[in-house]
Amino acid sequence: MARYVYDLDEPSGGGKELLGGKGSGLAEMTQLGVPVPAGFTITTDACRAYMAEGKRLPDGLAEEIQEHIARLEEKTGKRFGDDADPLLVSVRSGAAVSMPGMMDTILNLGLNDAAAEGLARSTGNDRFAFDSYRRLLQMFGEVVDGIDAPRFEQRLSDAKQAKGVQHDTDLDAEDLRGLVGVFKSIYEEETGGPFPQDAREQLTRAVRAVFDSWDNPRAQVYRHAHAIPDDLGTAVNVVQMVFGNNGDTSGTGVCFTRDPSTGDQGLYGEFLANAQGEDVVAGIRTPEPLEKMREHLPEAFGQLLETMANLERHYRDMQDIEFTVEDGKLFLLQTRSAKRTAAAALKAAVSMTDEGLITREEAVARIDPAALDQLLHPMIDPNAKLEPAAKGLNASPGAACGEIVFDADTAEARGGAGESVILVRWETTPDDIHGMIAAKGILTVHGGMTSHAAVVARGMGKPCVVGTEGISIDTGARTATIGGTTVHEGDTITIDGGSGQVYLGAVELVPPQINEDFETVLGWADDFRRLKVRANADTPEDAAKAREFGAQGIGLCRTEHMFFGEERLPVMQEMIMADDEQGRRAALERLLPFQQEDFEGIFEAMVGLPVTIRLLDPPLHEFLPDEEQARDDKMRRRIRALREANPMLGTRGCRLGVMFPEIYEMQLRAIVRAAIAVSERTGEAPLVEIMHPLVGFAEELRRLRELTVQTIADEGEIEYLCGTMIELPRACVRADEIAEHADFFSFGTNDLTQTVLGMSRDDAEGKFLTYYLEHDVLERNPFETLDQSGVGDLMRLAVERGRSVKETLKLGICGEHGGEAKSVVFCHELGLDYVSCSPYRVPLARLAAAQAALAESGAAQYVAAGG
Ligand code: PEP
Ligand code: MG
Repeated sequence: MARYVYDLDEPSGGGKELLGGKGSGLAEMTQLGVPVPAGFTITTDACRAYMAEGKRLPDGLAEEIQEHIARLEEKTGKRFGDDADPLLVSVRSGAAVSMPGMMDTILNLGLNDAAAEGLARSTGNDRFAFDSYRRLLQMFGEVVDGIDAPRFEQRLSDAKQAKGVQHDTDLDAEDLRGLVGVFKSIYEEETGGPFPQDAREQLTRAVRAVFDSWDNPRAQVYRHAHAIPDDLGTAVNVVQMVFGNNGDTSGTGVCFTRDPSTGDQGLYGEFLANAQGEDVVAGIRTPEPLEKMREHLPEAFGQLLETMANLERHYRDMQDIEFTVEDGKLFLLQTRSAKRTAAAALKAAVSMTDEGLITREEAVARIDPAALDQLLHPMIDPNAKLEPAAKGLNASPGAACGEIVFDADTAEARGGAGESVILVRWETTPDDIHGMIAAKGILTVHGGMTSHAAVVARGMGKPCVVGTEGISIDTGARTATIGGTTVHEGDTITIDGGSGQVYLGAVELVPPQINEDFETVLGWADDFRRLKVRANADTPEDAAKAREFGAQGIGLCRTEHMFFGEERLPVMQEMIMADDEQGRRAALERLLPFQQEDFEGIFEAMVGLPVTIRLLDPPLHEFLPDEEQARDDKMRRRIRALREANPMLGTRGCRLGVMFPEIYEMQLRAIVRAAIAVSERTGEAPLVEIMHPLVGFAEELRRLRELTVQTIADEGEIEYLCGTMIELPRACVRADEIAEHADFFSFGTNDLTQTVLGMSRDDAEGKFLTYYLEHDVLERNPFETLDQSGVGDLMRLAVERGRSVKETLKLGICGEHGGEAKSVVFCHELGLDYVSCSPYRVPLARLAAAQAALAESGAAQYVAAGG
């Protein structure tokens, strides 16, 4: 029969996938000799079996749990459900991939009316016993029976108010005993039955509730946002309770082996005396810096420092540790690889390499390419003289500016509509996740650096300020006071997650700075990668930015924008309105100098590097106004004549060049003139690559190549390549014939995705695709992450067929996928020569390309890009 439960000190032969991150961490620590409370883990296999059997515990699981409880009783010398000195356990979720706060936890399980009295007697601490029991009642009620948290919280705050105190800790044993009575009646009112007094029944129901929490809406949203598969399931950890709330020689805390914001070494963490871990995580009480623990509990503090160093050495990575001290004795509750900002990830990777802890390959493999984005975020101009209205903790770097919203639903609605909003809350809970995703930044009044808001925002790379003094919110009135000023929903504020400062109004932001660690790691990445990385850039400014980020050329310079602008558009319209070729040529002649000037700027910015210029692609109607705005009847008629039911499949791309060769001819002449001018000015000839869009038939490219060769020869002498985009299924299938006329292929995966999937790239995302993604018909948005098995297969065919006739055929990609980590890895595997992406994504692509090469050579496991 399948086995579902393992003791922490017992080898399971499985890792995170089987035991979950938390379970495998506890087992590994136990086996390392780190002080960890005793317990056992119910595997993810059990969860999957439970789900598969329609939420029924798989055969044998209940018996196995009983056996392991018996062993735990033996180890601890206490009995589960005992009246006098009960064994209490925590029941926690723990999936293979960390999903902070998304699933459920129940503490103090095993208490009942008699056991609470017993605990009070055995510890001599009534207050502690009833505090523990009221926590169990609340957590069990919420998690297992779905009772709304405010039902309990309201009564807790009533009790404090009645007594005229502020903190939970000011309630004494009698108050808590009273609350236990109140909570039990809430439980009974809500569920129609009494709180279960049988410890074993509590445990079974708690295990089921944790399994169920895998599928709660917030966990689903989180998984979608982080591309975590839905079928992994969670493990359940049942561990002996240790009590941080057992008086002044007890406490609880979290610590990081390095600063998760900066990566610096030093003491980094938080400690709360006489409290349970949940108080810290929920941000209910603001904890003290870890340093304070040295004064309260010097011995446990020393042991903690030693353990931190051991764990970092053992795991060879920065750790995020949860601990509790019970009566002076240290217990580690959890260690995991610390979530960190991109800046911290880079600093830690570089310093661990310097310390000899990891290799350069590992350093490169460890950085999540998508996280580099954070460093490329705007910041508040450091020279600006500004008065912050309030200050909180710098929970997640980057600056954000937007209109205040006070709840997650509004944030989702307005953020989703493309507005910039800042979500302002007392504190966030996992239920706010959808609003956090949609907001530009998050500001909370309560909470520490490890509160929900802080941890989640850091993971998302979103600016976040928490624990902000001087703010209070009136949720009913939808106003807040920030540093004495009343602001309303919709007013603009700016937050700086790097400094923790909050400003009223919009503040000028500056482009991000790239630091030395960034350069170091990307420099190493460049040594490992085979794929070249180019940028999509249409202006000299974008080209310069791309170069600064390490682009090795321009893979796509779209030329259509060069026909807009006050001086140009009327001439372009004149060209489109002309009655014959002669009229078109006359207008084109006047457009040529503009094009030439634009090309010169780009060539100059990219001296020494290749520049791929794509000839005109969009349908001509895009250059004409709406019919209502037509200048005259003639224009109105032309607009009507150009109208197409499916313009994306209409008269566009190379079809324009085939029908109106004079348009491409003008563009080619402008290219030649610009190349010669720049060559003369800089002494270096631009590396020109001319690209024809939307080719589907070899005959199209044959004609256009002939036009290209002829026009260039007539105009002057330059070196160049002539190639095509591959963005139609037919072009993939007939790539061999097309390759006869091409020096290079560049996959236009935006159009290729549209045409292979038959999904309009302009409409799908606002329409059915959203439904598909939400309902798991598709796992990922194919316009974001390449559809490897569909579009990717056709690309593979095109590569094979293209290279079968021309071994030297240069291959690249210039669709949006060229800047998405997983797709970059795929392009490496496909054997492309380069990827081309937006300038800001160039660093990401450099790193993902290196990770792909390292994975292939087996030099390092790439964690991030390959997923
Ligand atoms: C493409 O189709 O992938 C492409 C790069 O071209 P555009 O987005 O301009 O159609
Ligand atoms: Mg295209």
